[in-house]
Amino acid sequence: MSSAKLQTLLTRNNNKTMKGEKLGYRTYILYMTPYIHNGVNACSHASKGCAESCLVGSGFGGMYENVKSGRLKKREWFASDRVGFLNKLRTEIEKAILLNNIANAKNEEQTILTFRLNGTTDWVYEKYRVFEGDKNIFELFPDVQFYDYTKNHLRFKKELPKNYHLTFSRSETNDKKAIEVLKAGHNVAMVFDKLPTTYKGFKVINGDVDDLRFLDAKNSIVGLKYKKMTGKGANNALAFESGFAIKSEIV
Ligand code: SF4
Repeated sequence: MSSAKLQTLLTRNNNKTMKGEKLGYRTYILYMTPYIHNGVNACSHASKGCAESCLVGSGFGGMYENVKSGRLKKREWFASDRVGFLNKLRTEIEKAILLNNIANAKNEEQTILTFRLNGTTDWVYEKYRVFEGDKNIFELFPDVQFYDYTKNHLRFKKELPKNYHLTFSRSETNDKKAIEVLKAGHNVAMVFDKLPTTYKGFKVINGDVDDLRFLDAKNSIVGLKYKKMTGKGANNALAFESGFAIKSEIV
């Protein structure tokens, strides 16, 4: 068995998801290497700006080689054995549910589980129907809340599983699509240097308070403050030069 197959896919040690724990939600996130690797693009609608400023370069992902290599191994396993990878994911979700049920049975306060499978990728998980004949991972766990951010506007054109919430993610190349998605009743995440109260006529909510996007009011812009990249040689001016992040002075 390769080392990738031995590692845990889902993690919980994220600043923003810890904020959700105070509100009674426990979030597991799956991080793997984003964008283009070995000729395959994990982020089909990524822009140059977002690839340069990707969250994968901030926090632990930018600082530690072992975190980077772990994410790369997951990515390579996902590419080489999709069914095996998704079955491991299934096992980890089942285990998380079991542990949570045991903990909830002992405690008065009940914790709700949530899963974000595209921590730093944009795979179209709803199309991977590998379980029990033709089910995707969301249909396999209909009582569990999943959510993600996506730059792929086409994902909003089809009906999503009821337990899967998507927030569109604006970049320097999809501003028009972002407004279309907002007008269609969905939410759009946008990165700013400082959060305005409105942008292009839509209310901006503070998306840094927590990561529980499925609780956001509809037609909202989810304002996120730009997170500095921490890796060697990181250039934090690029996000604003490319237009991926929005300067408050031009709002
Ligand atoms: S689409 Fe998202 S995960 Fe992919 S490179 Fe852009 S910011 Fe990173």
